[in-house]
Amino acid sequence: MKLKFLGAAGTVTGSGYLFTNDHTKFIIDFGMFQGTKEEESLNTRPLDFLPSEVDAVLLTHAHLDHCGRLPLLVKKGFRGPIYATEVTQELAEIVLFDSAKIALSDQENKLINPLYTEHDVVETIKLFKTIDYHEPQEFKHLKFEYINAGHILGSASIKITTPQNQSIIFSGDIGAYPDLLIPHTEFFENANFVVMESTYGGRAHPNENPIELFAEHLNSADATKGTLLIPAFAIQKTQVLLCLIKELKAQKKIRPDLPVFLDSPMATETTKIYADHSYLFNDRFQNDSTPFDSPALNVALRNKQSSQIKRTKGAKVIIAGSGMMTGGRVLSHAKEYLPDPNASVLFVGYQAAETLGRDLKQGATEVKIDSQKYPVYCKIKEINSLSSHADEPHLLNWLKNIKNINTLFLTHGDDDSRIKLASEVRRKLAVPEIILPKLNEEINLEV
Ligand SMILES: [Zn+2]
Repeated sequence: MKLKFLGAAGTVTGSGYLFTNDHTKFIIDFGMFQGTKEEESLNTRPLDFLPSEVDAVLLTHAHLDHCGRLPLLVKKGFRGPIYATEVTQELAEIVLFDSAKIALSDQENKLINPLYTEHDVVETIKLFKTIDYHEPQEFKHLKFEYINAGHILGSASIKITTPQNQSIIFSGDIGAYPDLLIPHTEFFENANFVVMESTYGGRAHPNENPIELFAEHLNSADATKGTLLIPAFAIQKTQVLLCLIKELKAQKKIRPDLPVFLDSPMATETTKIYADHSYLFNDRFQNDSTPFDSPALNVALRNKQSSQIKRTKGAKVIIAGSGMMTGGRVLSHAKEYLPDPNASVLFVGYQAAETLGRDLKQGATEVKIDSQKYPVYCKIKEINSLSSHADEPHLLNWLKNIKNINTLFLTHGDDDSRIKLASEVRRKLAVPEIILPKLNEEINLEV
C-alpha cells in the first residue's frame, strides 16, 4: 500500500493523493494550485503517473483547490468513476466551467495553452457517480465511506478500507463546527492512517460573535449612508451572509429595507443549488423554504444591472465576487468605492498573498486595478470568525476522536502551520508517527 502526495504538501492548495495497492489505484481529490505565480506554475507540470491507470477518483468537495485539475486528469486519459455527493457534483460543475472560462481568457490575454477546455469539463461531469453520506461503497476491492465534513454543503471526509482491513482517512477540509448554516462536522472513530488538513495549525479563531459584529458593520454603513462592499466567496460564504441578513432583518437588528445587492453570477447559481438542498442545512435554517430571500435583496444578473448599482444613493450593501478580489464584478465596485471615504470594504474570508484583498487588508493606500491606479480612502474592516475551516483546537478535537492511528500525515497547510499543529498533536495526543510529506513524495503504508 502506497500513498503519493500530488499537491497541498507544504502549501494549502492543489490537494491530491494517489493511493496504490496490489489491485488498484485511486486518486483522492485533484485540485488546482492557486495563489502565487510559483504555486500556479505547478498546474502545468507534467503528471508523473498515468491517469489511464487510475481506477477511480474520490472527491471530498467542490472547492477549486480540491477538484480543479480533474478535467486535466480526464484530458490525459482517466475514464473511471468520480465519486462525490450530489451537491458536490452540482457545485463542481459550476466551479469547473468557471475555471475553463478563466483558462480561455488567460489564453487570449497571454497566448498560453489553457490547462483544459469546456469540452474536458463536459467529459469530466459525465464521469461523476453520486453517493450519499454513510452509504458504504465498494469498488475494485476497496471499501469506502463518506461522512459530513461540515466545511461547505456536500463536503466530506472519506475513509477507505482495504481487504486486509487496513484503513486510511482523508479529512478533506474540516469545517469550523458548529457552522452557522450546515450541520456539525462528523467524526470517524478509528483508522490506521490519517491524512489531515492543517490550514489553521497554530491558530485559533477569535472569540467573538460574528453575527453581532456583522450587524454592527451593516448598521454603521446605514448610519453614515455609506456603501458596504463585501468581497465574498461564491460557495458557502455568500449563502451564510444572505441567511444572516435575512435573520437580522427579521429580528429588526438591521433596517429591513436596507438595500442589499448580490452581484456575482457564480454566487447566484451556487445559491440556487444551496436552496435546492436546504434539507441539508442545520436546524436553524432547515425549515425555511426561502432561506436567502430577504426584503430589499436585489440580485444583479446582467452586467448592466451590475453597473447600475452605483445609482442607488444612500446606504447599501454589495456582496460581490471574487472573494479575494482577483477578478469578477467586485473589481468595478472597488474602482468606485475604494476612493470613497464614506464607503467600507468588509473582508469576511481568507485573503491569499499577492491578491488585491490581501493588499487592502494590509493597509495599501493606493492600488492598481486593470493597470489604473486608485487611491484607498474607504475604511477597511474585517470579521475573522466567519471561517469555514476548523481552527487548531477544533482540528485537535477532530483527530482525538480517531483511535488506533499508526501514522498521521499533515497536509493542506503551509509549513509553519503544519509544524505547529504537529507539535500540539505530539503534546496532547498519542499518535506514534507524524509525517509532513513533501510534494510528489511517495510513502509506503505499513502497519
Ligand atoms: Zn475547501
